[in-house]
Amino acid sequence: TSLFIGLTGGIGSGKTTVSQYLAKQGIEVLDADQISRQLTAPNGLAMDQIREVFGDTVITPENALDRDAMRTLVFSNPEVKQRLEQIIHPLVQQEMISQALRLHHSPYIIFDIPLLIESINRYRPLLNRICVVDCETEVQIERVKKRNGLSEQTIRQILQTQASRETRLLYADDVIYNGKGISLDKLQEQAYNFHIQWLNMKP
Ligand code: ATP
Repeated sequence: TSLFIGLTGGIGSGKTTVSQYLAKQGIEVLDADQISRQLTAPNGLAMDQIREVFGDTVITPENALDRDAMRTLVFSNPEVKQRLEQIIHPLVQQEMISQALRLHHSPYIIFDIPLLIESINRYRPLLNRICVVDCETEVQIERVKKRNGLSEQTIRQILQTQASRETRLLYADDVIYNGKGISLDKLQEQAYNFHIQWLNMKP
């Protein structure tokens, strides 16, 4: 089997830029957000459980998750979000593992998991290493403002729901620093150096 590497970082930290670069080097990248969307797409694997737990009101005629209805439900009852995550997370994890085991040709596999640290107990046992893309909060805010046109207040609210920079670094085996003064070239150079290291590591 291949080396399994969890890649994570806060919103706007540069995870996607790093995973796209590694994919270009021929490395397989499994994307937790993408898998999670597939699970709740029409007839997705999470839909039976979601119907059982929340009923038909959060399900579209195509048998997909009705995101607007779900948002309303979460808004009226914060526990709903947890219960939804209890359904989704184990399925994402299962799906990532079963996909990873089918990838024999990739020398190592990147598990791109934005909320890895928030579910550390779930993922730590599966991964050989955890790589954190690290950056100052102010830089995250600037990047997300520029990319999504969100207000600083909205971005700070999102940051509140994510692990802190310090907590993330506590679990990091490898750190890619993508904060103040780091150009895209410098980011790529760091990703390349880890790529070479990981190519030479055994699970
Ligand atoms: P999210 O979790 O919000 O999807 P992310 O961690 O995947 O974010 P990216 O999408 O890689 O982050 O980067 C966020 C934005 O910042 C992108 O528009 C990207 O091009 C830009 N960016 C990332 N790193 C740098 C850098 N070192 N210099 C300039 N721009 C950067």
